[in-house]
This record gives sequence, C-alpha cells and structure tokens, in this order.
Amino acid sequence: MLLLFGWALSFADVTAVDAETVSKKIGASFHWFPVQKSFILVTEKDTAKFAVGIPYASVNGSTIDLTASPVLDDGHLWIAEEDVNKLFPPKSEATAAKAEPAKAEPAKATAAKDAAKTVTATKPKNETAGTREVKTIVIDPGHGGKDSGALGKNAQEKDIVLAVSKLLKKDLEKAGFNVKMTRDKDVFIELGQRANLANQWDGDLFISLHCNAIDASAERKKQIKGFHVYVLRAPESEEDKAIARRENKVATLYGEKNAKEELSPIEWFKLEARLEKYKQNSYMFTEEMLKAMDGGKIKRQAGGVGGAGFMVLVGALMPAVLFEIGFISNLEDEAYMMSKAGQEDIAARISKAVSTYKDAVHSYRETLGR
Ligand SMILES: [Zn+2]
Repeated sequence: MLLLFGWALSFADVTAVDAETVSKKIGASFHWFPVQKSFILVTEKDTAKFAVGIPYASVNGSTIDLTASPVLDDGHLWIAEEDVNKLFPPKSEATAAKAEPAKAEPAKATAAKDAAKTVTATKPKNETAGTREVKTIVIDPGHGGKDSGALGKNAQEKDIVLAVSKLLKKDLEKAGFNVKMTRDKDVFIELGQRANLANQWDGDLFISLHCNAIDASAERKKQIKGFHVYVLRAPESEEDKAIARRENKVATLYGEKNAKEELSPIEWFKLEARLEKYKQNSYMFTEEMLKAMDGGKIKRQAGGVGGAGFMVLVGALMPAVLFEIGFISNLEDEAYMMSKAGQEDIAARISKAVSTYKDAVHSYRETLGR
C-alpha cells in the first residue's frame, strides 16, 4: 500500500508506506509501543526501532538518519519508502547497500566517537566492555578545582569524593584490578572529558563518585540522607531529574561545549541504542553495589536506585554508574563521609561490589564458553 502526501512543513513530498504492511512484505515481525509511540521491525538479521516524530532509527544498536520522521495518522504508522529501501534493501541489492556504514552519532563529544572507533578496531568482535573480562576500572571523583560540588556544613563534595576514590583505588589494586582515575588531585575537569578519558583507557567499568545534597529547611536536611546508585536512563521521577540537573550544572556554568542540564527526547532516543549494550551490566553492577552497601552506616535513600541523564555518563562506552555516597547536606552523613573510618568502609564496600561484579561477569562468560 502506497500513499503520497505532504510531510511535515520542512519536508518535500515523500512517498510514505504503512510500516505494518512493510513488515509483512519483508517477513518481519512488527511491534507497536503506544506509550513510547515507538515501533520495531524484527527480521532474522535486523532489529530496527522507530519513534513517531523522531527522524532517526536505531538499527542493531546504531543510529541511522531517516529521510522523514515516522508519522502516526488515522491509526496507521507511516514511514518514508526511501527509508524502508535503505534499511531493508531488496534481496538482490542487499550486499551493495550493506556497505553503507551505520551513522552512529553519540549525542555528545566527538572525541568519544573517535575513541569508540579505536575500541572497535583493537577489540575482537563481541568482546566489548561488559562482556569481556573485567580488568580496568575507571574511578571518576566528581567535581574538583573551581567546582567544589555540593557544600556541607563542614566539607566540600569534591574533597570527600577524592579521598574515597584514592582509598578505593588502593583496594581495587590490591584485588588485582588495573585502576585509572579521571583526577587524583584537586583539579577541574570537564564532564565530557571524563568519559573521553575512560574510553581512551578502554575501561571495563566507570564509577563516578558524588555526594548528594538538598537545598531545604534544616528539618528536611535532617530527614533526607542515604546513598543512591544511578544509571543513565530516562528519569522516572522529578527528584531524579533534579539530581541530574544539579550534577550537570557545572557544564553549563563553565561553558562546556554542548553543555546541557537535561537531555531532549531525541537525544534519549539516539543514546538508547548505544546504552542498550551496557545497560544490563550497569544494572548488574548496581545490584552488587546495593548488596555491598547494605549493612553499612549509610542506608539506601528511597530505594537506593535511580536513573537520569547524567552528562558525565553519556559518553562512557562501558557499563557505568554514578554513586551518590550520601547526603552532604545531612550532618550525620557528612560526618561519616568526612571520617577516615567512614571513607575506608565506603571504599571497601565499593571495592567488594566491583569484585563480585567481576565474578558475575566471568561466570556468565563461562556459560558462553569464553
Ligand atoms: Zn556531584
């Protein structure tokens, strides 16, 4: 079924085809997700994901530009015929069209893209971070230099996270890991640069350390305490969004290129495909973090797990979490995070989580016969 109609204002007329009909024709299964307004076509070889109003498709994890955004009209999903031919070439042309490289465009940092190329070039196939052996851990002590991070009554976030990071490095090295730190002194490093470093080092796991804070009444500050493990995913609550905005603020504050406090729906869509590769492992590590932190002095805050658009995690081509150790705005948490004994205990727990995560990844590898 073919239809000719005027597309959105900025597009010339495009021949549009019904996505469901197309999928039948090419022998693909078709799934529509009404809440996300997205749909996927799955063939034997390819999985292509589209979203209404978004001019990109995600094909087997790569983002591809579309001639026109899919449109939902009169109960049908329309996509440009040209895009169908490009993504699902007729059998005879399949080989020729396959040569066209997928245009994977990270939402940020071109340097990260270059690093990605190097990673793919030097790694055997399928052995990306997350499935290969866990060797190199990148610790990212948040903030630094002119950016002090959140301020407590007696301490600054940048100092606490650096102290814990140094102890963590020692613990991890003792456990046999190769450890890199994005900073090991009180210096300022841009958010985008942190992920770039991690990619250059070809890390297997990226851990960004922070202290949480709320700006509220003394009474609220007394109540709100605890740790929180964050992964990069679309935020599900206003609270999580607010935390990401706070942690991202430094980039806009100091004029970092491409800086923003929140990701747009299009950026999320483009990111999603890339994140898919590392998501499972980021969650695996989060699980290990929860287990390791439970029983410590600082308890989980509101479930202890969340997701939001943390800029520092956006460019990392590896499983990654942002760990808010505790609330610097809470006197009890602050005192514990400032104490040597507290810092040592926190570092030891994170180190344990890394070790158990490594074991989990390795036993999974064994089941695959690697
Ligand atoms: Zn922070």
